[in-house]
Amino acid sequence: MVDLQLFWSDVKNELSISIQAISYEVWIEKLEPVCFAEGALVLMAISANAKRTIDTRYLDKIKDVVSALNPAVSDVVIITPDKKEEFLSKQSSPEELVSTPRTVAEEKKPNPFLAKYTFETFVEGGSNAYALAACKSVAENPSGGYNPLFIYSGVGLGKTHLLHAIGNFLLKNSPRTNVLYVSADTLINELISMMRSRSVDETVRLREKYNSCDVLMVDDIQFLIGKEATQESFFNVFNDLYHRNKQIVLTSDRSPKDLVTIEERLRTRFGWGLTVDIQTPDMETRVAILKNKAAQMKFDLSDEVAEFIAENATSNIRELEGLLNKIVFYSSLTNHVINTRELAKEALSDFIDDKKETLDAGDVIDAVCKYFKLTPSELMSKSKTKSIVEPRMIAIYLITELLSLPLSQIGDLFGGRDHTTIIHARDKIANEIKTNPRIRIVVADLKNMLLNR
Ligand code: ADP
Ligand code: MG
Repeated sequence: MVDLQLFWSDVKNELSISIQAISYEVWIEKLEPVCFAEGALVLMAISANAKRTIDTRYLDKIKDVVSALNPAVSDVVIITPDKKEEFLSKQSSPEELVSTPRTVAEEKKPNPFLAKYTFETFVEGGSNAYALAACKSVAENPSGGYNPLFIYSGVGLGKTHLLHAIGNFLLKNSPRTNVLYVSADTLINELISMMRSRSVDETVRLREKYNSCDVLMVDDIQFLIGKEATQESFFNVFNDLYHRNKQIVLTSDRSPKDLVTIEERLRTRFGWGLTVDIQTPDMETRVAILKNKAAQMKFDLSDEVAEFIAENATSNIRELEGLLNKIVFYSSLTNHVINTRELAKEALSDFIDDKKETLDAGDVIDAVCKYFKLTPSELMSKSKTKSIVEPRMIAIYLITELLSLPLSQIGDLFGGRDHTTIIHARDKIANEIKTNPRIRIVVADLKNMLLNR
């Protein structure tokens, strides 16, 4: 029998590759699969208007994908919400869709991973290099030593993307590996059902689901906080897999040691393998990510606009993508080329914070002086005293991060230092942020001060 939800998720996966991201989100993502009726896949659009657009622009494409994935589904019908009941009553019996001719596409397992989240579409930068290398290593050689792999970072920095990339890689290169990806939400619900379900069949099915996997990936494990019974049950699942040398990959918004309210024995186990974090991306990586996303959408993104966006979304890649999507959408709506900083600013005027816009090097220098109780002339001096050198390097780092000034101009600001000195200071602090919690906190405080003035 063809599972409606799974089938639709496969179709969407294919469509997300061939339809522009913004159109995909506006039109395809909002379609709801209703049923199979008389051999057709019935999809509900949110309104009559949406139906009209989808019928004219996307229906043929959807039909192509559907028939390639399952030739027994001979048609696709888009309906409006008022027709839903009528179609549900015409629903085909599941048997009608069983005897489908076998095709190559059908023999594939349904792919629960988003096609757009792969290693190829993940842009490497200093902020994520370790995490990326660890994920590739696990994908190429599950249970090869990094077990569990624990990835943590703030929101929107690529954890889910990396899990899907591992999944896509394994399905493609090692299709016999049984990969299970669950959000913490699903995990919690299923663990509860396992403990409390009245139906023995259901309990057995769920146990089997977790026991039989070769790779278990749980996204956002911090949601187990405060759920003692579920933690206990997950402890058993974890141990069972771990002792049978099955690979476990977990993500969280904080490190294992900071999951303070999670039971001690589970928390220590999380740290048994390899723990990697993803930092906020630097300016260069943000620009590279934007260029990559733009290329995927076949949008011609100028350097100036990429830099403008990267200056205005510094701590979250989802936000970065959001601004790019708005530029793409705005330019396709108005048919105007947006290739300068001014035009980008106009297009995004409702979404970006003016404060960031007006930030200049002087503000950064003032903030750093205030923070370290130095005068600007001390900060800019040639002094080699540690209590001045470090704040100076932090000021340089923040200027390269938050503003897009040419390095030589930054050098001039700091008393005619040359650009290699500026690069050295920037990279030194970027490294310190990774290894030195004190510097990380100082930089985060200063960023906060500057961006939330
Ligand atoms: P998280 O799970 O950490 O909250 P996601 O994996 O959902 O973050 O990432 C948010 C968005 O940013 C996704 O669309 C993802 O594709 C994108 N993204 C994050 N890191 C990168 C990267 N290094 N290269 C390309 N896209 C990235
Ligand atoms: Mg996520």
